[in-house]
Amino acid sequence: MISKQHIINRFISYVTIDTESDPESNTTPSSEKQWDLANKLAKELKDIGLEEVTIDENAYIMATLPSNIEEDVPTIGFISHFDTSPDFTGANVKPQIIENYDGKDIILNAAENIVLSPDYFEDLKLYKGQTLITTDGTTLLGADDKAGITEIVSAMEYLVQHPEIKHGKIRVGFTPDEEIGRGAHKFDVSKFGADWAYTMDGSEIGELEYENFNAAGAVVTIKGKIVHPGYAKGRMINSMYIAQEFINSLPRLETPEHTSGREGFFHLHTIKGDVEETQLHYIIRDHDKEHFEARKEVMKKLASEINAQRQQEVIEVTIKDQYYNMREKVEPVMHIVDIAEEAMKALNIKPIIKPIRGGTDGSQLSFMGLPCPNIFAGGHNFHGRYEYVPVESMISAAKVIIKIAQLIPTKKF
Ligand SMILES: [Zn+2]
Repeated sequence: MISKQHIINRFISYVTIDTESDPESNTTPSSEKQWDLANKLAKELKDIGLEEVTIDENAYIMATLPSNIEEDVPTIGFISHFDTSPDFTGANVKPQIIENYDGKDIILNAAENIVLSPDYFEDLKLYKGQTLITTDGTTLLGADDKAGITEIVSAMEYLVQHPEIKHGKIRVGFTPDEEIGRGAHKFDVSKFGADWAYTMDGSEIGELEYENFNAAGAVVTIKGKIVHPGYAKGRMINSMYIAQEFINSLPRLETPEHTSGREGFFHLHTIKGDVEETQLHYIIRDHDKEHFEARKEVMKKLASEINAQRQQEVIEVTIKDQYYNMREKVEPVMHIVDIAEEAMKALNIKPIIKPIRGGTDGSQLSFMGLPCPNIFAGGHNFHGRYEYVPVESMISAAKVIIKIAQLIPTKKF
């Protein structure tokens, strides 16, 4: 099958190229350095024998593994992103390889006393005896989502080298800027031309996701009135006190730290204020569309109540939708999830099907006409120094890709 060393070498060749995206930039890709890996990937896809390899002016890469059967079967795609999160530096990544992991603490960096411990990160216990790739404690690793890219490239290479495995047409897509929420924006769904696709961007082995949050951002602006404090009686309006009233009137237990599973929340992430003006920045999240709409209404209603009480417009709420739950786009074509589940079971991987408490590129793509569930890529502790990936999970993900490709011609659609 796919050799461990081959996967390790490929993965390391990707993570040692810095591709941190930049939320402050308006260009695509958001950082010039993403081209370094993008160009390398386009070349590599050609080298392993894929066809129709394209890289557009925004660094979106597409490629084709042609069908090797007579019948017409659906074209499917596999998608990953090559940028890494701006939450933590991705420059000078120095991967460490821990062979035959003993289940104990891993010293990432002795000098700075940075330890990856199963006491804190319990998932580590799942991987005793396996080969882990970690950071040296000073950077993120970039398994999110270079693990996904490694798996897709390795699976495609394997299929090219094993023509006895029969499959339909397969499309590969690699995108920039997923980590700043812009990975799908300029993805040309019609050019991709797949009936459906999978993002290889989940975490633990077995993860399979087709539900994510509905998401909106809210800016609450509160206007006050500044007057000399000594002569302010009956005249000063302190916007910070009104902000406090607004914050306290929202359900205190419907916040990220008190919710899990399919429970939604209001999350106050920034307050900026003085007497004259206070701004509250919230994100609103809910898997359920009706609850999501209701949450937005709660905020607006609360603002108008406070305005009515004060008989003037002191609060203004501006809400912008960010993305939606892909479930409504995937459920009508549930066979695309079923096939992934069947592929995992055939490989003795236990499917873990659960709602994502976040968004994926797949949710946007699903609303752009390309239904796109998310499959595990194997990494853990994304976006920080404790990020790691078991090599065995990457091999399993590559096998899932191959198995899905193999299953398609055996089905009726
Ligand atoms: Zn990712």
